[in-house]
Amino acid sequence: MSCNKYNKIDKDVLKRLKEIVGHQNLIFDNEEKLEPYSKDEVPDSKYSHMPEVVVKPSTSVEISSIVKLANKRKIPLTPRGAGSGLSGGAVPIYGGIVISLENMNKIIELDRKNMMITVEPGIVSNEINEYLREYNLFYAGYPMSMETCFIGGNVAENAGGGKAVKYGVTSRYVIGLEVVMPNGEIVEYGGKLLKDVTGYNMVQLMLASEGTLGIFTKIILKLLPLPKYQADILCLFDSTDNAVNSVHKIITGTGITPVSIEYMNKCALEIVFKYLNESIQLHNAEGTLLISFDGNSPDRIEEDYTAVCNFLEKQKGLLEIYVADNLSTSERVWKLRINLAEAVSVLSKHQAAEDLVVPPAAINKLSAFLNKLSAKYCLKVPCYGHAGDGNLHIRIVAPEDWGKNKWEELLPIIQDELYRYTYNLGGRLSGEHGIGHKRKKYIDYFLSESHLNVLKTIKKSLDPNNIMNPGKIFDI
Ligand SMILES: Cc1cc2nc3c(=O)[nH]c(=O)nc-3n(C[C@H](O)[C@H](O)[C@H](O)COP(=O)(O)OP(=O)(O)OC[C@H]3O[C@@H](n4cnc5c(N)ncnc54)[C@H](O)[C@@H]3O)c2cc1C
Repeated sequence: MSCNKYNKIDKDVLKRLKEIVGHQNLIFDNEEKLEPYSKDEVPDSKYSHMPEVVVKPSTSVEISSIVKLANKRKIPLTPRGAGSGLSGGAVPIYGGIVISLENMNKIIELDRKNMMITVEPGIVSNEINEYLREYNLFYAGYPMSMETCFIGGNVAENAGGGKAVKYGVTSRYVIGLEVVMPNGEIVEYGGKLLKDVTGYNMVQLMLASEGTLGIFTKIILKLLPLPKYQADILCLFDSTDNAVNSVHKIITGTGITPVSIEYMNKCALEIVFKYLNESIQLHNAEGTLLISFDGNSPDRIEEDYTAVCNFLEKQKGLLEIYVADNLSTSERVWKLRINLAEAVSVLSKHQAAEDLVVPPAAINKLSAFLNKLSAKYCLKVPCYGHAGDGNLHIRIVAPEDWGKNKWEELLPIIQDELYRYTYNLGGRLSGEHGIGHKRKKYIDYFLSESHLNVLKTIKKSLDPNNIMNPGKIFDI
């Protein structure tokens, strides 16, 4: 369905929406208040679009009524979490109604016997762990935006993050969902079960569906015992190749699975050092690995990081290892990684943010190709990311002397080269930030026609009027 087939919000629809959520939970006709809902964290304003109305429901029944109304009146709907997304997923590109989940922010139940928690979608992800700390439990999802993003947005994007080497991504912990489907029906999938093959695995289908298959209104998460201790090592290498060449060997070479293996190249580190006014001695390192360990015994953690340090010392090009074995030094090194995305965003308005993923052992090839691209086009390429997961966040930043026209002419050529290379490594377009509408024109580089047809068939059968976050992931 194209945008001109959607109807505009009229007085009747507004009246009905007011009846459903109450006038205090509705924003309409107020540009200043609507504007924050027109964008996410994608810096380029060309990916923004104003909603006609924002509603802030408090229950799944209210959401169901809104969805039924939108279906009847052919009005597009965009579910929205915290708006920290990096692919334009929460942007209402055809206008219509934004359903903000911000009022649905409660912990519904902690089930300590089963080690499970049931939450509403609008709770800030980090608050779940703050709540769980006193019970010595934790939820192991850990996007770097943990202090702002909502758990519903994490499910919709299948968020990854800084603990995935050891703990995996969001999908490993979501075992039950209540979903308002595109026809307005409220359906429960999964439950408090650690195994369940009673029909298709609908919970996993919903993961990374980016708000296109339904709106999550209740989420059941599996919990783990909270590890008592953590330590980190910051490893400096003389070249990017030497840094990333070690990544996939760490686990096989030591038999130890760290919590995370994060990578930052020199360009990225210089930017974040300036941004944070940091002064750790870098010894001219070109590539850096930040490796974390956790567990219940400080001695065991020390044994683990010592074994990894010994292993890395035998690898080519290691310059220095700093150990952070207390909270303040750990926070200091992680601050570098956590603040990188923001530090890089302010660098230039002509920049593209990529989220490519390759098989973990191919990360060195992707990194070497970036160096080639950077030299060929004289680009600044701050690169960082979850190297242990094969997932790199790559910023392609235009040189200062490139004007808008040159940038717009060359960027597609550079992306074309990068995507083809990534695909040939067995890689994909996005590891965790999603496709949204920002990346959808490139999805057919990575998915075959038959693969895309299956996705479209699922979408069309669940949402025949194409009202649920239309124009995201692919066009119908
Ligand atoms: C500084 C920074 C660091 C980041 N680091 C990471 C990282 O380490 N790992 C990572 O994976 N991501 C990261 N992100 C990206 C982003 O935080 C995640 O994608 C996050 O999961 C989005 O959550 P949100 O609540 O902000 O969702 P939004 O941006 O509001 O929405 C994202 C998508 O989810 C859909 N959606 C939201 N709520 C629901 C719901 N209840 N039901 C159905 N659909 C819904 C929306 O329609 C949209 O398509 C980072 C972003 C920033 C700005």
